[in-house]
Amino acid sequence: MQSNPAPDSHAPTLPQPPSSPPSRTLQTTLLHADTPLNKTTDVAPPLHVSTTYQYSSTPASLIPSRDAPPQSALTPGAPHIYSRETAPNTTRLESLLTQILNAPSLVYGSGLAAIFAIYTLLNPRKVAITGGYHGAHGVLGIFERLTGLRKFKLEDLEAEIGEGDVVHLETPVNPYGEARDLAFYSRLARERGAWLVVDATLAPPPLQDPFVQGADLVMHSGTKYFGGHSDLLMGVLATRNQEWLGRLAGDRLFMGNVAGNMEAWLGVRSLRTLGVRVERQSASTGLLVAWMDRAVRGEGKGAEVVQKVVEGVRHVSLQPEAREEGGWVRKQMSGGWGPLFAFTARSEELAKKVPSKLSLFVHATSLGGVESLIEWRAMSDSTCSPTLLRVSVGLESWENLRDDLIKGFAALAEEEKL
Ligand SMILES: *Cc1c(COP(=O)(O)O)cnc(C)c1O
Repeated sequence: MQSNPAPDSHAPTLPQPPSSPPSRTLQTTLLHADTPLNKTTDVAPPLHVSTTYQYSSTPASLIPSRDAPPQSALTPGAPHIYSRETAPNTTRLESLLTQILNAPSLVYGSGLAAIFAIYTLLNPRKVAITGGYHGAHGVLGIFERLTGLRKFKLEDLEAEIGEGDVVHLETPVNPYGEARDLAFYSRLARERGAWLVVDATLAPPPLQDPFVQGADLVMHSGTKYFGGHSDLLMGVLATRNQEWLGRLAGDRLFMGNVAGNMEAWLGVRSLRTLGVRVERQSASTGLLVAWMDRAVRGEGKGAEVVQKVVEGVRHVSLQPEAREEGGWVRKQMSGGWGPLFAFTARSEELAKKVPSKLSLFVHATSLGGVESLIEWRAMSDSTCSPTLLRVSVGLESWENLRDDLIKGFAALAEEEKL
């Protein structure tokens, strides 16, 4: 468990989408980048629920599918045919995501559906992966059964990795919110002819852009920060490899794992505020983590009760490398810290009871919503320590969240006679 002095919060620098004028910030792009798709005068984009669309009434402009150029459905302005392929709300969502992720993007029914699509596309013999979101291991388990795919640890990368293999890197990584060095893994993958796949769910724009460090494919569970309101399930893949993009779109048509019309509509509604939400959640997390880390070491507000319950805190801002001004952590997360952190309680019994003593944190799994969540992680992940609590910081003020934690720890300490 690390307990280093928390670094000062660093100023976010927003990555600029290549297709926007340089003066457009992320938040401006999120509000205006899909304007060219407007077909009505509605300010709020309409929800189109149709699964099927009329063909042209002019026989001369009917192009039979045998003559349609490959990927034609992905061409902007192409007519919609059937919503398993393209639909107005998913296309609008994809056009926004393409601009903010700096690469053509496709949406899926869930984050795991997107991960499934990655391994269907690449069909690797071996995948380097250590820890992270348990569901990714579930998907790889299916491929182990179907194709004989074999997993190995990132720690054994240099000895094991070969041509066509995949490095599956989640950063920041579940459930600790700590960063992994993208540039390091990207270099190694490239040298060996392997691919770097990045699960970037825990640091959406503006926090990081894995393409800068050389990611080949970037995945997000859109259920988390893109959705942002704990009310939609969605996955996203982004890649600059045009051949992959065409195959992914083709595979999606036949796997049938596209995001639904309603979810895509909700997704656009949610993306409108992504920039302000994530910046605030990120800033609050930096402050909360710095407070808790100091309190664990006996300094600052509530230190006495924090020390009775909390053993240690984990977050990217507490990684030793995060203190170096020009170090890889700050370069990689140039837009701010990830809004998820974890702490360990002094015992399993305490960890299990902490959520019941809080009033602002909802005891639930998942992350990325506007409301703060805390999870006794043993409830959903059998591989982590039973003393671990994972915290997803929402939009409440960080001082209110801090005071709720202090009050909860105090109540628990009194009940347990600590
Ligand atoms: C939630 C999550 C997933 C899975 O996404 P779903 O939308 O729930 O399928 C994958 N990776 C990470 C890091 C996640 O947090």
